[in-house]
Amino acid sequence: MAEQDGLESMCRRRGFLWQSSEIYGGEAGFYDYGHLGTKLLENWKKEWKDFFLGLDENYHLINTPNIYPHRVLDASGHVDHFSDVMVRCERCGASFRGDHLVEEEIGENAEWMGKEEIEEKISELELSCPECGGTFSEPKDFNMMFKVSLGPTGEKSGFLRPETAQGTYINFRREFRALRKQMPMGLATIGSAFRNEISPRQGLYRMREFLQAELQIFFLPDKHEEVFKEKFEVIKDKKIRIKRADWKDTKEVELCELEGLAPFYLFHLGKIYEFYLDVMELDPEEIRVRELSEDEKAFYNKIHFDIEMDFDTLGGWKEVSGLHYRGNYDLKQHQKESNATLSVPTEEGKKIPHVIELSFGVDRNIWSLLDSGYHSNDRDWLDLPSKLAPRQAAVFPLVRKDGLPEKSREVFKKLEKDFRVTWEKSGSIGKRYARNDEVGTRYCLTVDYDTIEDNTLTIRDIERKEQIRVSIEEMNDVLSDLIEGKKGFEDYL
Ligand SMILES: [Zn+2]
Repeated sequence: MAEQDGLESMCRRRGFLWQSSEIYGGEAGFYDYGHLGTKLLENWKKEWKDFFLGLDENYHLINTPNIYPHRVLDASGHVDHFSDVMVRCERCGASFRGDHLVEEEIGENAEWMGKEEIEEKISELELSCPECGGTFSEPKDFNMMFKVSLGPTGEKSGFLRPETAQGTYINFRREFRALRKQMPMGLATIGSAFRNEISPRQGLYRMREFLQAELQIFFLPDKHEEVFKEKFEVIKDKKIRIKRADWKDTKEVELCELEGLAPFYLFHLGKIYEFYLDVMELDPEEIRVRELSEDEKAFYNKIHFDIEMDFDTLGGWKEVSGLHYRGNYDLKQHQKESNATLSVPTEEGKKIPHVIELSFGVDRNIWSLLDSGYHSNDRDWLDLPSKLAPRQAAVFPLVRKDGLPEKSREVFKKLEKDFRVTWEKSGSIGKRYARNDEVGTRYCLTVDYDTIEDNTLTIRDIERKEQIRVSIEEMNDVLSDLIEGKKGFEDYL
């Protein structure tokens, strides 16, 4: 927990993120991103878009509203089924998620449990209110959507969207026509989703308003088999760490060794895994893929794998994204309820496309970067990939006199064109290093007396704490080689 306190305190102090409405005491389940947190977030979104929209020229980004009318979420099944089991303390009135109470006691996932299972477990384990020791009322289903009324008289109602996916499904027909009826077709959305969590907890992990980045790919399994086979061929030998539903342990296997999964599934699974290792630069030991069992997955998901990260600050493995094969459940539901034709013509008649969904909790992924990057042994420092870090470099004058501030300002101006860079002159040089270590600025450049003599400066690496000396003419090239990974810091020592 010291780890979590240290990281959370750094996040607040340095401008990454903190609980929303802080000056009013804070509101559970909501977070604000500060100036550095927002940069990290925007960089992550950009890399996510570049990576996943780059998987196919017919994958595109769309934007849809946060509020949907009642009918849309009725058709999707959310009005009837999007609920958690809630129990209330009969003495103090506190509410809890039933599955979480059970989970804390038995130490394994209980999310799949319904009202009956939870009631049984509560009596079997003799659970009582963690706040006051009181007994619980009968478990109830609690719909997690936020209801909103539309218009002055509230004659129409809607909901804040519980997921971004529905906006994509209801736009399938329009985009299919606009994109000249090409499939596979991918529609992605990055935006807010809202869930009225009974007891939000664990910081960015479970929130009432959060960001999702989702990509829905529409295709016909038999017709587009060849397209995906070709794509999969290129990455089929890649190794991933994975735990199948019927395996006891996590194993490292090649994608092509995974049985019973079609190329359209394996291709996207491999690419998600690659994103975690190559773009987010997480350690393979910190990431695994886990197949959900029949009990755990939603009834409309034919196949469901979660990507999980081993969080130091959250006590172990937690889901950060998922890959779901949803069959044609979604379009079928919307066709039925809207009466719009959502099928497409094929040689064998009309067919409703199937969907494979890549779903990322953006805030959870941001927290993965912070959790994984945060080091607090001899000093506090943050190890972030240069592509994602809010700041790539910082420039200082060694002292605040003898023309060094002016010279360092020139250096800053020259770097600013190519990098996310900051210029600082306050505090001692040691304090400036410490401040930048804490926020993950990988390279600190210092202008000293030699700079005035020979036009060279030092570059310090955050991890090694060592310095190299380079000329101002070469400085931008050296930094870009380091940031893009073309050269390592050790090549210059
Ligand atoms: Zn109580």
